[in-house]
Amino acid sequence: MQNKEQRTCPICGKTYHDHPALSRTDGRTEICPDCGTRQALEAVGIPAEKQEKILEVIHEKLGEREA
Ligand SMILES: [Zn+2]
Repeated sequence: MQNKEQRTCPICGKTYHDHPALSRTDGRTEICPDCGTRQALEAVGIPAEKQEKILEVIHEKLGEREA
């Protein structure tokens, strides 16, 4: 794919190429998929350390898929 724009996440400062997620705080700010996942997990009451664990698992699975 060619039109992969590089974006910078305003929350974690990471650059990413994936489709952005929308911040739940204002519904407009584009954030990286990881922060989107964090906010979604936060919204259902998952504590921060578990959020990171879940993200690790997601990254592992995505890595498998892209490999
Ligand atoms: Zn982020």
